[in-house]
Amino acid sequence: MSIADNLLRVRQRIAAAAERAGRDPQDIVLVAVTKTVDAAAIQDAIAAGVTDIGENYVQDSVAKYDIIGGQVRWHMIGHLQRNKTGHAVRVFDLIQSIDNLPLAQEIGKRASSIGKTQDVLVEVNISREETKTGIGRDEALGLAGEVSALPGVKVLGMMGIAPFTEDEAAIRRSFSQLRKLWEELPIDNRKWLSMGMTSDFEAAIEEGSNMVRIGTAIFGPRR
Ligand SMILES: *Cc1c(COP(=O)(O)O)cnc(C)c1O
Repeated sequence: MSIADNLLRVRQRIAAAAERAGRDPQDIVLVAVTKTVDAAAIQDAIAAGVTDIGENYVQDSVAKYDIIGGQVRWHMIGHLQRNKTGHAVRVFDLIQSIDNLPLAQEIGKRASSIGKTQDVLVEVNISREETKTGIGRDEALGLAGEVSALPGVKVLGMMGIAPFTEDEAAIRRSFSQLRKLWEELPIDNRKWLSMGMTSDFEAAIEEGSNMVRIGTAIFGPRR
């Protein structure tokens, strides 16, 4: 299957899930996740209509950005180190992985210095697994409030990664918990609810996601 075929299938599944939930498929943004994917394959995806790409590593994204540039929106979805924020604010339209205040402060400082307001999401740990990043659910709204008050950054919503399990009920529960938290954000900070990956994006859409991050179903298994 080509990338274009895969994309078509994914879009059909997004549309079907949206319709099951009584929602407009157009309201759901597809972020094509391109970690380990080379620039040529990304160009194929763009030719097939991809408008948003998600990267996990700043270093890789800088190299790809040199080739691909601003023809798509760039999303940072991986753990961001504070010493990489200078590069990150140059490349990314939306940084989805804010899980602590010092990181947000550094991003705000770097963005301000280049005359930018950096759009960000607060990443919430909805899986309660030690290995996963994200701020705890109890602290997420507090962090969102503190980040909103900083110069140089704007909070536009929340991101979460479901637990790694076959238990579909547990996955749905984690999505529904994130949606409830997200609904408590002030309206100005509540544009995006980023949840759902290859294995669980249909459930995420049914639970209210309006931004899905999909790699494997588009580009095939990662090396
Ligand atoms: C890799 C990754 C994805 C995409 O995962 P797939 O299972 O390949 O769709 C989505 N979100 C984050 C944060 C990721 O790291």
